[in-house]
Amino acid sequence: MSQQKIEQIAAQLSNWRPQLELKTPGEILLWASAVYKSRLVFASSLGVEDQVLIHFLGKMELPIRVFTLDTGRLFPQTYDLLSKTTERYGVKIEIYLPNAAAVEKMIRARGINLFYNSIEDRKLCCEVRKIQPLQRALRNTEAWISGLRRGQSGSRQTTQVIEWDETHQLVKINPLWNWSEEDVWSFIHKHQVPYNPLHDQGFASIGCASCTRAVAPGEDVRAGRWWWEQDSHRESGLHSARSKQTSEAHS
Ligand code: SF4
Repeated sequence: MSQQKIEQIAAQLSNWRPQLELKTPGEILLWASAVYKSRLVFASSLGVEDQVLIHFLGKMELPIRVFTLDTGRLFPQTYDLLSKTTERYGVKIEIYLPNAAAVEKMIRARGINLFYNSIEDRKLCCEVRKIQPLQRALRNTEAWISGLRRGQSGSRQTTQVIEWDETHQLVKINPLWNWSEEDVWSFIHKHQVPYNPLHDQGFASIGCASCTRAVAPGEDVRAGRWWWEQDSHRESGLHSARSKQTSEAHS
């Protein structure tokens, strides 16, 4: 996309941001659906924030395409939740799998549990199992919805209600941008939204079974992901350090 076009989008997002900041998540989803229509997609990892958003989509019957990534290494509880969520809300969730030939090539060369070898091998695995399917899922879209919140750690602390995703060259909409963790859980319990039972066993952020563990009370939620690595490396690349406010135009 040309720099001029990106600057035009940046100006538009800056205009929209103040009014969107006053809206509820349901109103933001309704607005996004009306503005972007079929060029909008919701990427769900089935985490608690995403479950809140699916609840809104299902109850409001919004015609927004939903997809999730099946890396092939998820917990059995996550697959059960996927099935339960589809049944409860009647929302069709498109499942994107990694390219079988790419996985075969990778694990033959680097081993079935290559992610424990090195940061490079872990990133390769995330690239093949998550990033590439994500890129396929985002094709032909202009905007995507995520469950990111400011209260989360790392680069998520600067999350805006609407922002420019530099890596994917898409507008990113974060309806829960200003929700706290307490807000999310209170909504989940109040509306009996299905969630992954592993959360009740100390799993804060749930990804692949091989790369996720429970955390101690008070420990950073991201500490349960890729715990054998240094803090600065602990992102899969799906949402890390690349969604920027275009108005600030920093990289
Ligand atoms: Fe591979 Fe672990 Fe990344 Fe899942 S989280 S894609 S198993 S490295």
